[in-house]
Amino acid sequence: MTTTSEAVTRAARIFVAGHRGMVGSAIVRRLRRGGYGNLLLRGRDELDLTDQAAVERFFATERPDYVFIAAAKVGGIQANNTLRAEFLYQNLMIESNVIHAAWRAGVERLLFLGSSCIYPRDCPQPIREEYLLTGPLEPTNEPYAIAKIAGIKLCESYNRQYGTRYVSAMPTNLYGPNDNYDLASSHVLPALIRKAHEAKARGDSELVVWGSGRPLREFLYVDDMADACVFLMESGISEGLFNVGTGSDVSIRELAQTVMDVVGFQGRIVFDASKPDGTPRKLLDVGRLGELGWRAATGLREGIALAYRDFLNGSR
Ligand code: GDP
Repeated sequence: MTTTSEAVTRAARIFVAGHRGMVGSAIVRRLRRGGYGNLLLRGRDELDLTDQAAVERFFATERPDYVFIAAAKVGGIQANNTLRAEFLYQNLMIESNVIHAAWRAGVERLLFLGSSCIYPRDCPQPIREEYLLTGPLEPTNEPYAIAKIAGIKLCESYNRQYGTRYVSAMPTNLYGPNDNYDLASSHVLPALIRKAHEAKARGDSELVVWGSGRPLREFLYVDDMADACVFLMESGISEGLFNVGTGSDVSIRELAQTVMDVVGFQGRIVFDASKPDGTPRKLLDVGRLGELGWRAATGLREGIALAYRDFLNGSR
């Protein structure tokens, strides 16, 4: 693991790609809190990251010092499983364009964001960074995972061939402000918040949970993720792959129960076996980042309460 002594100054020009998304907006909040005032932010209407020429122009003109790639086509199990071409194509384009343009423009350092689904479906738990590419992927999100693995390999290869300093962070399942609460495309945690809220409002007696309820998942509050990203930027780390998570997981059944408690819905859980379970377990080993001194701060129940408040305030 290589580190550099150059700290990122508060005046650095920082491009947060995807700043309107859940992760990007959390990184912007964290950077502003940390006193970074020179943020380069472009909405999709101003800069289409799948357009190579536009991305090259943006980098040549704006010359960022540091880049966070939080832009991606993302979604839950159903969206990943059905919009397979979109997930593969858009993610490959975004990361190839941004990483290549960053190199051409001489960007100092870059943080690429991936996902825990890049690891083999049946790998030992908790998942260590070195398990990457040691076995077959989970089929429901294979296109997304392949794109994210390509992004990690772009960072690694540009570092090796061109001496760049690009780092990859692999978050576990994230949730929090600006999440997607659309039931057809969302991840499980925001979906359950919406379902429990609506079931309570309607006076229903049950809540439908997809699959068997047995899969185990780890959930990280997105502001903790943003904190880890800025921690990596400030640490001077200049290469490698870092898992980011809490270090513990819960079953989907337990998650549903906790969400119901927070929302205040007292009904029965019903499982819809026609929906897929996906990976049986996905718990990250967070030792590598832990050794550097970073730890998640927000507990699951506390985080769900914050997310529910955000949902009630209109993030839906
Ligand atoms: P994954 O982590 O890539 O599998 O993505 P998800 O967050 O979409 O799903 C995680 C697990 O939660 C899977 O086993 C889903 O079947 C289960 N799940 C239960 N209810 C829901 C729901 O309402 N929406 C979603 N997206 N998943 C659900």
